[in-house]
Amino acid sequence: MTAIESTLVKLSVDFDVQKIRKDFPVLAQKAYGKPLIYFDNAATSQKPQVVIDALVKYYSEYNANIHRGVHYLSGKASQAYDDVRKKVHEFIGSKVEQEIIFTRGTTEAINLIASSWGRKNIFEGDEIIISTMEHHSNIVPWQLLCEEKKAKLKVIPINDVGELLLDEFEKLISPKTKFIAIVHTSNSLGTINPVKKIISIAHKHNIPVLVDAAQAMAHEKINVMDLDCDFLAFSGHKMLGPTGVGVLYGKLSLLEAMPPYQGGGEMISSVSFEKTTYNEVPYKFEAGTPNVADVIAFGAAIDYWNTLDRKAIAEYEHELMSYASEKLKTIPGVRLIGTAKEKTSVVSFVIDELNTLDVGMYLDTLGVAVRTGHHCTEPVMSWFKIPGTIRVSFLFYNTKEEIDVMIDGVKKAAAFLKK
Ligand code: PMP
Repeated sequence: MTAIESTLVKLSVDFDVQKIRKDFPVLAQKAYGKPLIYFDNAATSQKPQVVIDALVKYYSEYNANIHRGVHYLSGKASQAYDDVRKKVHEFIGSKVEQEIIFTRGTTEAINLIASSWGRKNIFEGDEIIISTMEHHSNIVPWQLLCEEKKAKLKVIPINDVGELLLDEFEKLISPKTKFIAIVHTSNSLGTINPVKKIISIAHKHNIPVLVDAAQAMAHEKINVMDLDCDFLAFSGHKMLGPTGVGVLYGKLSLLEAMPPYQGGGEMISSVSFEKTTYNEVPYKFEAGTPNVADVIAFGAAIDYWNTLDRKAIAEYEHELMSYASEKLKTIPGVRLIGTAKEKTSVVSFVIDELNTLDVGMYLDTLGVAVRTGHHCTEPVMSWFKIPGTIRVSFLFYNTKEEIDVMIDGVKKAAAFLKK
């Protein structure tokens, strides 16, 4: 037994993965007659039964529009929706509940900040700093803003293993730097960035920081007051919740000073043709009928997270990542992309001479779901001079045995496709 295998055996004593798997009905099925192995968790996580049940219960028992109804169902739905804001506030340790704004996801949360905070505070000649390893959703909104305002986008470079060059970051800061938007955990490299340090450097220059926590939320406990970030964005669907709901956290004073993002119902205090006044935060940023059902089901996901031992899970996922990385490295022709010291359970790799899509399609025939391509991080691929990677991303319900099947598949693919 290798050192890694023995650690896994030890960990399984603390963490009963088979019991956990029973909470996720989708994992029990077969794909093409083979047990389904789901390694595409960075794209979206699977959902526990409690989340599915919450959706069904809402639609079958208390579906109603919220906040404006005086009737029984509306009261019940409003209460359930409002309760989730409190749950999220407690989950990420915000100062007050109003700092939680529901969005469609990380993408919309970042666009909200770029449109609202950005349009008000960015002017010609100003600079915004992002990094090489941003997801497109933390690049394009800033490019659009910079184009509109004639501002400049500056990019923190990375090293060969996929870590940010912090010295270079400090050199990029100038009196013109007005905003920093940075990914906490990279979806294509798995790198966990030293965001707390970045935020503290930025704050010495009075620069606000937005953290893209789309990947981070499912792998570690984030506390916004501890990080001291000014804004934080994440998606429910990557952390056991349904699609179509995400969160923007912002410090209350910043949110209060921002203009609305979209106009419509709910976000107003009063409307006349002469003058419209806006509702208070967070409602000012939630125009129209919100995604009531998914927010409520997201609340069930948070309840589920609160039953889990996050420390044990993090250790277990780290073991899965190390185990897969070590095994992949032994396969001739395989090269890992992204080997930062601080890494989450994402493993990206390429195989000499092989098209990543072909490998992904071959693994699919074995029931193994992986992702191939640029993972919406084209600048990362350009930096590594590759068109894309094969990415396996684990969550706590995955197992070492599933990794063995994938490894076997990669070996076969390498031999078979090269012929
Ligand atoms: N940032 C990161 C790091 C991501 O991984 C993703 C999703 N892959 C996003 C942002 C965008 O998230 P969403 O599509 O849920 O808005």
